[in-house]
Amino acid sequence: MTLSRRATLGLLAAAPVALPARMARAETFAGRYAYDPQPIGPGIWLVRGADEAIVFGNGGAIANAVIMACPQGGAVLFDCGPSLRYAQGLAAVAEKLCHGPVRRVFLSHLHPDHALGTAAFDPAIVAALPATRTELERDGNGFADAMYRILADWMRGTAVALPGATVVPGPIEIAGRRLQAMALKGHSDGDLVLVDEASGTILAGDLAFYDRAPATPDANLAAWRESLATLAALPHHQLVPGHGPLDPSGTAAIAQTRDWLDWLEQALNQAVAQGLDMTEAGSLPIPDRFAAVKLARYELQRSVAHFYAGIEAQRLPRIDAGSGNGNG
Ligand SMILES: [Zn+2]
Repeated sequence: MTLSRRATLGLLAAAPVALPARMARAETFAGRYAYDPQPIGPGIWLVRGADEAIVFGNGGAIANAVIMACPQGGAVLFDCGPSLRYAQGLAAVAEKLCHGPVRRVFLSHLHPDHALGTAAFDPAIVAALPATRTELERDGNGFADAMYRILADWMRGTAVALPGATVVPGPIEIAGRRLQAMALKGHSDGDLVLVDEASGTILAGDLAFYDRAPATPDANLAAWRESLATLAALPHHQLVPGHGPLDPSGTAAIAQTRDWLDWLEQALNQAVAQGLDMTEAGSLPIPDRFAAVKLARYELQRSVAHFYAGIEAQRLPRIDAGSGNGNG
């Protein structure tokens, strides 16, 4: 569009009017999160995230959250979404289902789609592993900035709130709800897993993805595999992944996550060995067995961005290194 001088002047003249109008629209931002708590056992509900990337349309609500009722009243949350607004809505749903206040919010790991909702709670009731707190201190504000850029008004009022309580691995009881806490890692440096005793459910956080490709921005694949082996050995009935539907078998999501990580690592190593560039590696064929896995191409391309330079450095040592002066 080419603006005539007259039209430009007209726009400038309108600006003082247009600005308050824009602000007024922001005040009445009508985005609403929808919550559909699915009962998955005695006093436990899964609130599903969208199996999508973070985009404005979903308000960043892409991670699963879990609500558990305390026998003595009140609720426990495992993860609380991407924003103040999401977490306030989740808390209202939980308090209605559990006939009492949210007593404790467990944070599975640092990523903003799980963690930034903690802004809605008194930090004293928000609990995480020490490693998660350290990672949030390092990365939290950067994540929040990125989320504001994508999600704008969905994020209003959301600030990084550091957890005020530390999770110690072992048995935990909250108003009669008995949990086992495990300190694992691999998806991030601190991956909290809870096992709910009453329902035999593993709350795996992002150590397990199900029919949704694993995200790897902070991954250590060797540690992740070890953690999956630990989860597979637990006596349990079912598993809630960080993303994707409930796994009623308790084993399929673990196996699929492991399969994806093994394929990914092997495929990227092979791509480097073949001299493919990053764009070519991101276009590699994805095996048919992952046909039902959502966001497979998207996460492959993100994983190329996370890992490729490191694999190249490892497999293709500098030819001027070790020659005595190592300059340049
Ligand atoms: Zn994550």
